[in-house]
Amino acid sequence: MPPTRPNPDPRHRDPSAAGPSTTPSDDAVDLPRIERAVREILLAVGEDPDREGLLKTPNRVARAYAELMAGLREDPRRHLKTVFTERYDEVVLLRDIEFHSLCEHHLLPFTGRAHVAYLPDGKVVGLSKLARLVEGFARRPQVQERLTTQVADALVEELSPAGAACVIEATHTCMTMRGAKKHGSTMVTSALRGVFKDNASSRAEILSLMHAKGGSL
Ligand SMILES: [Zn+2]
Repeated sequence: MPPTRPNPDPRHRDPSAAGPSTTPSDDAVDLPRIERAVREILLAVGEDPDREGLLKTPNRVARAYAELMAGLREDPRRHLKTVFTERYDEVVLLRDIEFHSLCEHHLLPFTGRAHVAYLPDGKVVGLSKLARLVEGFARRPQVQERLTTQVADALVEELSPAGAACVIEATHTCMTMRGAKKHGSTMVTSALRGVFKDNASSRAEILSLMHAKGGSL
């Protein structure tokens, strides 16, 4: 059976979107395909996608998804390629890296903070690179556990540090808005590598640094 639904009327596209929507402007993301899917969702829930307030919604959602999943089209490890050689053998920690990701089970946001640390063994990167690393892995359909291990493993692979650690605290809207409705509950995951995994005092030190409150380091 051929599909009976017409394609979205071009008039409904956001005029601020660049060019005709048959030419996805955002790399590999097929914006018109998302637009058609969003229109289908609106019809499926009983909405009228042609009412005024929803006319531009499929295009807006398509562009939002393209942005939220931009990490799929990059290798976040590239942020760790520019290294400095430093005789610095103390912990480097970047705390409270705010991130926004999408739970891959529900495509609903989960947001929180990542704390990323490593103990250099000759290779050091700029602090902003640690934030970009988290951002790159967050901007894709994710689960928090994998996000945590991807960040720690990237540090290990690119910097060969004596130790690496990533702790993530996040709130999942798929939990707080629906289902169990655990308002305000936070999920905490950690990935420890090298000395932070194997040495009890190093592990205790890094975890207490990560959890210190109010910039009281
Ligand atoms: Zn979920």
